[in-house]
Amino acid sequence: MTDVLTENAPQTDAPAKQDGPSLSDFVSRAANGQAADGRRDLVGITREELTELMAGMGESKFRVKQLWNWIYNRGVTDIEDMTNISKKLRDRLAQDFYVGRPVLTADQKSTDDTHKWLMKFHDGNEAETVYIPDRNEDRGAVCISSQVGCTLTCKFCHTGTQLLVRNLTPGEIVSQFMVARDSYGEWPTPANGIRRLSNIVMMGMGEPLFNYENVRDALRIAMDGEGISISRRRITLSTSGVVPEIVRCGEDLGVGLAISLHAPDDDLRNEIMPINKKYPLKELMDACRNYPGMSNARPITMEYVMLKGVNDKPEHARALAKLVKGVHCKFNLIPFNKWPGSDYECTPTNDIKKFAQILLDNGYEAPIRWPRGRDILAACGQLKSESQRQRKSRVGSTGDAGGCGKSDAGNEGIVAAQ
Ligand code: SAH
Ligand code: SF4
Repeated sequence: MTDVLTENAPQTDAPAKQDGPSLSDFVSRAANGQAADGRRDLVGITREELTELMAGMGESKFRVKQLWNWIYNRGVTDIEDMTNISKKLRDRLAQDFYVGRPVLTADQKSTDDTHKWLMKFHDGNEAETVYIPDRNEDRGAVCISSQVGCTLTCKFCHTGTQLLVRNLTPGEIVSQFMVARDSYGEWPTPANGIRRLSNIVMMGMGEPLFNYENVRDALRIAMDGEGISISRRRITLSTSGVVPEIVRCGEDLGVGLAISLHAPDDDLRNEIMPINKKYPLKELMDACRNYPGMSNARPITMEYVMLKGVNDKPEHARALAKLVKGVHCKFNLIPFNKWPGSDYECTPTNDIKKFAQILLDNGYEAPIRWPRGRDILAACGQLKSESQRQRKSRVGSTGDAGGCGKSDAGNEGIVAAQ
């Protein structure tokens, strides 16, 4: 299995050292939220670390509260505007820190109001974020990317054809949500609790549990009452099934869990989702049964992409119902979204409905997740940025930026309002 999992592994080879700081030095610092001038982005620094940093400046915990309020509640992007902090301290802070935002390189709105942004980070890498407004209520989900590209190679997924470029930092994950809020002017956080950007789904590019620590730190900021302040009940993380991290995720975060299941047995799942060879269905179902959040009211969502003639027969539906026995779950049937070069076709709608009915007859809810934002290529599994992992030889010979890529372009999007 490891061959499948590592063939797309993150680039760790450092480019050849040069005299003085090289472009790659700049890139790796920038990718960690540090600007070329050495200042750090305040967005994404954990509460604990920021407390330590403030203590190092002789400041109390109260400063963290103030800073977080300006950053995550008021949306301020200039330290100078933090007016309840003395001018002297603002100047000192601005010497070491800044409040960052990724650069928007594309901004598209669908006829169904789904909104997609392509965001460029300091090193030129890009990832997509999508806002999916609820059709009936004044709220919606922001679908966030966790990696540029993906290490996995699920056969039906466009992102899986892109080599992993790198993990996104906590700041880059959180700031995708901040950019979306900028776009809707949702600052300060509405006091009456009604927020248009009300939910977060970790369903964008990448496998969030292969970037667990960064995703965890970002989601802690998202859930913190003095941070973005979104309840864990309004956050869903989707994973292809990284079993050990499912346990950690449940213990550390307790957010809603979605599993990309897509097949009822190991043979078929091995074929379409190589990660199954490492974490087969029995282990995956055990992890789901033990997921700490499972005992409360919120069921695990079993995502199931409908692939014509592959996983969509009535016997597949019946086998699924058996497989998930004892797991508090519901299904989410996702019509396959085609992308250039894919061999699969989507199951006809009538057959999807029959499939859903079998699951329902067996006691499992199985709504169909109709695609949103297709006209702007913002549907599930179509994401693919132009960022490409650079080959070692090229990096070495040019001294060019490790891991950065050409950035001229259109990703495609995602996702599902929960
Ligand atoms: N990597 C994570 C989250 C991102 S994918 C995961 O795999 O769960 C979000 C959802 O879209 C997953 O359920 C994924 O399997 C599904 N998906 C991928 N490609 C798709 C496609 N072409 N059509 C429909 N859904 C797709
Ligand atoms: Fe990666 Fe998820 Fe796509 Fe699989 S479905 S390749 S894990 S993004």
